[in-house]
Amino acid sequence: MVDRRSSLPPQIHKFGGASLADGPAMARAVDIVRGHRDAPLVVVVSALAGVTDALLEIAARAVQGDAEFVRAGAAAARARHIAAAEALLAPGPRRDELLRLIDEAFAELEQIAAGLVIVRELTARTTDYLVARGERLSARLFAAALGEAGVGAVQFVDAPEVVKSDGTFGHASPDLARTDRAARKVLGPLLARGAVPVVPGFLAATPDGQVATLGRGGSDLTATLLGRALGARDVALWKDVPGLLTADPRVVPDARVVPQLHVREAAELAYYGAKVLYPRALIPLGQRNIAIRIRSFADPSSPGTEISRRRTLDAYPVKALSAVTGQALLTVEGNGMLGVPGIAARTFAAVHRKGISVSLITQASSEHSICFGVPEPAAERARASLVEEFQSEIARREIDGVEVRPGVATLVVVGLGMAGTPGIAARVFGALAQAGINVIAIAQGSSELNISVVVDARDAARAQRMVHDAFQLSKIGGGAMTRRTRTDVMLLGFGQIGRALAAMIAKLKREPLAVKVVAAVDRSGFVFDARGLSAPRLAALAAAKTSGTPLAKAPGGRKAGAREALDFAARHALANPILVDVTADDTSDTLKQALAAGMHLVLANKRPLTAHRKLYDELRALAEERGRRLLHETTVGAGLPIIDTFYKLAESGDRVQKIEGCPSGTLGYLFGELGRGRRFSEALRGAIAKGYPEPDPRDDLCGMDVARKALILGRLLGFPGELEDIEVESLVPEEARGLPLGEFLRRLDEWDEPWRRRIEEARSSRGVLRYRCIVTPRRIRVGLVAVDASSPLASLNGTDNQFIFTTQRYRANPLVITGPGAGPAVTAGGILNDVLKLAST
Ligand code: ADP
Ligand code: ASP
Ligand code: MG
Repeated sequence: MVDRRSSLPPQIHKFGGASLADGPAMARAVDIVRGHRDAPLVVVVSALAGVTDALLEIAARAVQGDAEFVRAGAAAARARHIAAAEALLAPGPRRDELLRLIDEAFAELEQIAAGLVIVRELTARTTDYLVARGERLSARLFAAALGEAGVGAVQFVDAPEVVKSDGTFGHASPDLARTDRAARKVLGPLLARGAVPVVPGFLAATPDGQVATLGRGGSDLTATLLGRALGARDVALWKDVPGLLTADPRVVPDARVVPQLHVREAAELAYYGAKVLYPRALIPLGQRNIAIRIRSFADPSSPGTEISRRRTLDAYPVKALSAVTGQALLTVEGNGMLGVPGIAARTFAAVHRKGISVSLITQASSEHSICFGVPEPAAERARASLVEEFQSEIARREIDGVEVRPGVATLVVVGLGMAGTPGIAARVFGALAQAGINVIAIAQGSSELNISVVVDARDAARAQRMVHDAFQLSKIGGGAMTRRTRTDVMLLGFGQIGRALAAMIAKLKREPLAVKVVAAVDRSGFVFDARGLSAPRLAALAAAKTSGTPLAKAPGGRKAGAREALDFAARHALANPILVDVTADDTSDTLKQALAAGMHLVLANKRPLTAHRKLYDELRALAEERGRRLLHETTVGAGLPIIDTFYKLAESGDRVQKIEGCPSGTLGYLFGELGRGRRFSEALRGAIAKGYPEPDPRDDLCGMDVARKALILGRLLGFPGELEDIEVESLVPEEARGLPLGEFLRRLDEWDEPWRRRIEEARSSRGVLRYRCIVTPRRIRVGLVAVDASSPLASLNGTDNQFIFTTQRYRANPLVITGPGAGPAVTAGGILNDVLKLAST
């Protein structure tokens, strides 16, 4: 039977790991394929997200003898495949067959790994054979899911049947001619009868018929190889980004989709670190008229980026930039190099012999030195090889030696229009100079297609943002393509406040900015949905949690630590992601991980901000480096705009000299009651009944909570010290400090009398007792004071908080902010304000 579509050129659709995170993601990919059935098509898939990494780690741990890790790792990977199969396929023979294949693949994996544990030797060949199952299983899964969705005749075709290579394990080079022939022979007839072949990416046959891999990220190459062989016009690479962007969106938040790029521009970007495209994927294109399209998995109707031989966007001499980090710069230098032919050739031959690739070369016009970049881990090998090569020149002092400078990054600015547009280099350097970034080395390719700049690795992110701005790349193609319409929130902590916040977000009006909770994480695990957890789902999770079911045990929940949960979320195409920390834990590491993954931070958690100064500085510096915001309004005055006021004053040129405040709702309530003549024991029991204090009220009474808030304010004012440097007066009587909680609560009456006396004393001095902090850049004190009845602090009511700012401008008459400072609803509202601030900027 000949299909009527078969006269059209075929299309290739490749789905990357990020688009194949789990069952639901795969179901979307199936929908995309179904929507493209008007032409013959071939599907290429990567392994499920993270599976290649997981398999490689299993292999690496196996040779170290870590049998326990192997077992757990294999079980986890197996479970993910099974979960995907069960999500995609109804019970029946198709599903049974798939489950059998999954079991087989993992049984074999465990067998091989058990062997590795014993022999402790891992070859590239075995590694390839092990990881190949990632792509093979996901292709099986995808084929079955397509079949189940009624896409028609679907055929799994194993990669070695159609992709042929030179057989270099771990990094095989495709054999174009043999691949052309094999792919046509095997796939041609399938397409002719209207079937949809599904091929594992990343894999190829060695000349003797074994399986090898094409290098990390290599399934892009599988797609273009098949496109070439079958005479496709279009190869679609479905990714977790809306296209090829003007810069890595994790580094430059302003990055925009480039509507169209020339193949040569794309090649430069891919070669210089733009992970979105595997550099060798462009090889099969040759001079052919094939367009690669980087398409958005999240938004399939948007056109994405076309990579082709057209030239467009003339107004943009520079179209995009990228950076290679983790590099070292090697310099061969010496007087004896002057005018001596062949030094450069020998230099690069010596490096090439060790299989090390060189990323950038500059030679001073005096020919006095040659300087080039290599991957940092290879730097020492490169140096050794050069020293050996130039042994006699070094002995004769014609060459001084070989210098290595580690810790650099190469930033590359790309655009065909650079040739013939004067002043591009000047703009790059001007932007860097303005930001105070030191340029270590420079190179411009003779093609004038790129300018490369070597900078210190620590400056790399900032450098990219500066250059991106200098060329106004956020306006490319109208600049509207990645207009922000969505903000994704990940909730770290799902206690009272977390749940209140989730409910508030779910109720927000969606237009014009949609804010969604995509993940909730607690100590047990997490629940995730890249499309956003719906209001009913959040309500159900909250109800379950209230009645004692942790998230891991909830429907759709997974068991995991915060680190894994973040890793998992970061593999999805989240929009303007924000991590909201509503825990009371020491989360510094998690927060850093989130910043590194491009998330903004909103904290209600005081811990990370009151941790050791070094951790605090690192967190702030990382946020700055990544161009992400860190908001934490609720860490000081719950819903009151305290931090906001501080920044507004500072930004308008005022200087805050002192902040005085009563930032504890619990203590405020307590002193209010005491002032009204209630007994201490009664007042404290009343506070407990209203749910104000911490589970152990001594945590409030000891003043540490106030001290933490004071430290957060102090650090804004420039206080250099630690929590221990704060003078804190504890309200817990000496003899009550070591008691078990129950006993402390039973014996409360014993302290009524001393408290009554204290209040009396305060009265007689016509003052009111307040528990107060005084914060200046040099000193922080926290403790009990009798304030004059005319002080604003004296008028405080109930759980109200109060903050008094003395500044250069508000000197005689300080600025006072008063309002309710406790309670989940007030706090959740304050957090929501922070979130909305980030959503709208
Ligand atoms: P695949 O799922 O097909 O393997 P990759 O993960 O290899 O896709 O590539 C997509 C990732 O590349 C994005 O998530 C993004 O973080 C990164 N990236 C780096 N530079 C760019 C860029 N200039 N444009 C788009 N994405 C980029
Ligand atoms: N799964 C392989 C990798 O992670 C190949 C790919 O994704 O392109 O590198
Ligand atoms: Mg990839």
